[in-house]
Amino acid sequence: MIYRNYPMVSKVVFGRGSFSQLSDIIAPKRLNVKAPFIYLVDDVFKGNLKLTSRISLAYDDELIFISANEEPKTSQVDALVEQIILKHKDKPSGIIGIGGGTVLDLAKAVAIMLTNTGESKDYQGWDLVKQPAIYHVGVPTISGTGSEVSRTTVLTGPEKKLGINSDYTPFDQVVLDPELTNGVPKNQWFYTGMDCFIHCVESLNGTYLNAFSQSYGEKAYDLCKEIFYDNSGTAEELQDKLMMASWHGGMSIAYSQVGVAHAMSYGLGYLLGVKHGIGNCIVFNHLEEFYPKDVVLFKKMVQLHDIEIPEGICANLEDYQFDIMIDVALSLEPLWENAIGENWKKTITRERLKALYQKM
Ligand code: NAD
Ligand code: ZN
Repeated sequence: MIYRNYPMVSKVVFGRGSFSQLSDIIAPKRLNVKAPFIYLVDDVFKGNLKLTSRISLAYDDELIFISANEEPKTSQVDALVEQIILKHKDKPSGIIGIGGGTVLDLAKAVAIMLTNTGESKDYQGWDLVKQPAIYHVGVPTISGTGSEVSRTTVLTGPEKKLGINSDYTPFDQVVLDPELTNGVPKNQWFYTGMDCFIHCVESLNGTYLNAFSQSYGEKAYDLCKEIFYDNSGTAEELQDKLMMASWHGGMSIAYSQVGVAHAMSYGLGYLLGVKHGIGNCIVFNHLEEFYPKDVVLFKKMVQLHDIEIPEGICANLEDYQFDIMIDVALSLEPLWENAIGENWKKTITRERLKALYQKM
């Protein structure tokens, strides 16, 4: 048995208002005056001076607003890398991603592709990255994905939706400032928060579970219950808790794996462009046969917060479209092996997945 030697985020600061320390934190990492810091910022913050006025641009530093309407694509990563290379003579001193999972994943991928040749699609997979990335910093503004702590950056490429999983992917620095999650719309708060809840459920109920994953997974699961079920705490406390739940949920799957909801959600994402958080919710809603107790809890939380989970999105699909989603879902073998066990192929048939998709 070879145990994985797993990289972690090197430095992290946590606290309400800690975002104001960002400039001081990164200043020592400036290589020279021609090597800029590039800020990739979710465009939801355009005109939000409470955030942008605290970003201090010096020398050739640049701020690029990024739309999070669609999940990151390999072509988008390549275009950003080209834009940065053409504009600046020196390699940047660092990339700072400020936003949700979409922007954080883009920041990680851009930092990798600034030092690795070729196109980002060539690196979708496991341990294909050759050169260390440039210094990269993650500042989450919505909690749940665990992207701030993970070893992957999920990209949709021409052929597949798959992460760049590598030892060079995790951030060198993360700033956890729960205040930045002010203003997240309620539905989105729930969908992305449920991504964390589902990470925990899939990790804790998987065959890959071990004490490392369990210790993080149980803590995050309990925090999610306090937030979404018990509603215990002030608004600020709930924000703080969700930010830490996201972190712990990410740590939990780092050393185990996700499961059925993620496998099937990737299918929805690939074919229909359904985003990760809401896609997980759409799928999880129908997974009683796999996660009975937690699907009941999920439905109660949906009700408590009066959240709308879309239904009927597969109603008018044709057979070939179901086949595409099933192919994507089944290709994620480790997820099924974790969820069901070594002999998963005996019970997870194409017909069974089609019947599930038809319910969604
Ligand atoms: P997101 O980044 O797509 O953002 C969702 C919406 O919330 C966007 O409209 C965004 O503009 C808005 N938003 C973000 N912060 C806000 C704020 N403070 N105020 C108001 N609006 C705000 O959502 P997400 O769920 O965080 O990320 C999803 C992405 O994360 C997917 O691309 C998924 O593949 C990826 N993901 C990555 C990992 C990983 O380990 N790398 C894990 C899970 C998911
Ligand atoms: Zn997820």
